[in-house]
Amino acid sequence: MRVLVISDIHANLAAFEAVLADAAGSWDQIWFLGDLIGYGPDPNECVALLRQHDHIGLSGNHDWAVLGKLDLHTFNYEAQKAIQWTQDAISEETREYLDSLPSKLLQESFTLAHASPRQPVWEYILDTHTATVNFDHFTTPYCLVGHTHIPSLFAAEDREVIVSYVPMYNTPISLNGIRYIINPGSVGQPRDSDPRAAYGLLDTDSMTWQYRRVAYPVSQTQERMHKIDMPVRLIRRLEFGL
Ligand code: ZN
Repeated sequence: MRVLVISDIHANLAAFEAVLADAAGSWDQIWFLGDLIGYGPDPNECVALLRQHDHIGLSGNHDWAVLGKLDLHTFNYEAQKAIQWTQDAISEETREYLDSLPSKLLQESFTLAHASPRQPVWEYILDTHTATVNFDHFTTPYCLVGHTHIPSLFAAEDREVIVSYVPMYNTPISLNGIRYIINPGSVGQPRDSDPRAAYGLLDTDSMTWQYRRVAYPVSQTQERMHKIDMPVRLIRRLEFGL
C-alpha cells in the first residue's frame, strides 16, 4: 500500500491543501500523526478535509489541550492564546472526532505515535540519546512520530549504534533490514528553517520511504490569522519555518 504520512497540520488549510495536491496520485491511504489543530485559523476545515479521505489518525498534545485533556499552562503564552481561540472555534462534530483519536497505534510493521513510543503525547525525539531509549519502547520494525516539526530519521544499525540522518528529499530510501524512527516533519508549522510544508510517502510493499517538501501560500494563512487576532509571533514564524 502507498501511504501519505503527515503530521502537525495545526489548522493550516493552505498548507494541507498544497500537500494533497503535490502528492495526488501517489498514495492510497493517509496516516496522520497528530496535532490537527492549534496555531492555525482553519481547525474545522482541516478536520473535514482529513475526514474526506481514507485515513487513520492520532491525536497530539495540541488536540488534547483543546479538548481539555492537558493543562494549558504546559504551553507558552502564544500557544495558549491559539488553543483558547480554537476551543471557541471548533464545532461539536470536530470536537467529537478529535476526541475519538488515539495517541498511539499499531499498523502493519509500524508503530505510530504523535510524540514518541515511550510518551506518545509529550516527548520530543530530537537527538540520538532520546531516540536510543525509545527503540526499546516499540516492538515493530519501524516507528513513525511527529511533534518536533522537524523531518528526521533515526536508525538502529546495531543494538548499540543509533545514527541520525539528515533527510534527502525526493529520494526513496529502502527501509528493509534496519529499525527506524521516522518523522515526516510538519505540514502546517515547519520548524527547521524551511517554511515549505513537509510530508512523507511510504510504500509498504517495496518498504521504501521518501521525504517531500512543497511550498504553499504562506501569506494566505497569515492573513486569516491576522483577521482572528492570533499572536503576531505565531503569524510571522510561518514565513521563516521557525
Ligand atoms: Zn505540533
